[in-house]
Amino acid sequence: MSLLAESPNAKLNKTVLDKFLSLPQPDNKVQAEYIWIDGTGESLRAKTRTLDFTPKSLSELPIWNYDGSSCYQSEGSNSDTYLYPVAMYKDPFRRGNNILVLCETYKYNKKPTETNHRLTCAEVMKKAADQKPWFGIEQEYTLLDMEGRPFGWPKNGFPGPQGPYYCGVGADKVYARDIVEAHYRACLYAGITISGINAEVMPSQWEFQVGPCEGISIGDELWVARYLLHRVAEEFGVCVTLDPKPMPGDWNGAGAHCNFSTASMRVDNGIIEIEKAIDKLSKQHIRHIQAYDPKGGKDNERRLTGKHETSSIHDFSAGVANRGASIRIPRGCAEEKKGYLEDRRPSSNCDPYKVAETIVRTCCLDE
Ligand code: ADP
Ligand code: MN
Ligand code: MN
Ligand code: MN
Repeated sequence: MSLLAESPNAKLNKTVLDKFLSLPQPDNKVQAEYIWIDGTGESLRAKTRTLDFTPKSLSELPIWNYDGSSCYQSEGSNSDTYLYPVAMYKDPFRRGNNILVLCETYKYNKKPTETNHRLTCAEVMKKAADQKPWFGIEQEYTLLDMEGRPFGWPKNGFPGPQGPYYCGVGADKVYARDIVEAHYRACLYAGITISGINAEVMPSQWEFQVGPCEGISIGDELWVARYLLHRVAEEFGVCVTLDPKPMPGDWNGAGAHCNFSTASMRVDNGIIEIEKAIDKLSKQHIRHIQAYDPKGGKDNERRLTGKHETSSIHDFSAGVANRGASIRIPRGCAEEKKGYLEDRRPSSNCDPYKVAETIVRTCCLDE
């Protein structure tokens, strides 16, 4: 690897930090890592404050602020942007009573920032709460070196063609499993409903799944799981990209399949409700494509080509066990005549709040 490809972080001796992390922490001091989505709608930011008490509920956490002009979220002359705590998790890096605090962002005038998509999602989830909407998102991602090349790929050339890598085992099949394993445990410790991991079709591409989660929690948990992934990879000196098509050509892109069900889909003969939902989705294809990546469909254009286990961005389709369709009914659900549907269109860099909100508007609220 060239010098540039090596992260300075990877050169630090990671065992030194343990000496300090194992220092006794005063009982009444808690480190709270406030996490928020910046003005790109894709990247996460975080900063820490010390609390003089151990918070037992969200409402005890102070509102905080940050420099929005340094996060592409405001003008420098009016830059104070507010952080409203919305969810709390255990901190797997600092452990003990220390916490991660996911926040919504609000402008100086207390209006939500342009990239705060949680507020409207939460309103919609409240309206549909009686239908008990569940979501499971499959987050695909790609590991990169510091030069932006997929981690472990030959510097001048390419790995062998796709085929042996998906769910692969062995040093010639998968790269950086350490990161995947560390992230999995970090999520479990934090209290994320992570339901599994697997290696993907393109080498150095992986997936983790979050869910099933009811309502707004799918967005909260997925964003925190993404935060944990970036942090874990940072320690290894590796970058994570959620770009939906990091390598052009004959390499699979990355999606965030959204599995969805309501209470009535999960009971006997729920397949009828699943089919009704698919019919509603078929009439709102463009609205969904616009909501499924941060650039209103532009990012997904590179991925939803109709090749590499995707459907075309221009057409709506649905089918049992069909990985080339917009919506797939898993084989098991078709057989049991109940369960859930899988919307395969969301891009890996989607905002899960927007995805979940749009699905519920279409399928549950007929909006
Ligand atoms: P795939 O076969 O498409 O690779 P995965 O096993 O990766 O599917 O992911 C399936 C996801 O669906 C998981 O996140 C799981 O929690 C979620 N899921 C399972 N049952 C339901 C349900 N009834 N409603 C919504 N999501 C569900
Ligand atoms: Mn999957
Ligand atoms: Mn996958
Ligand atoms: Mn899937």
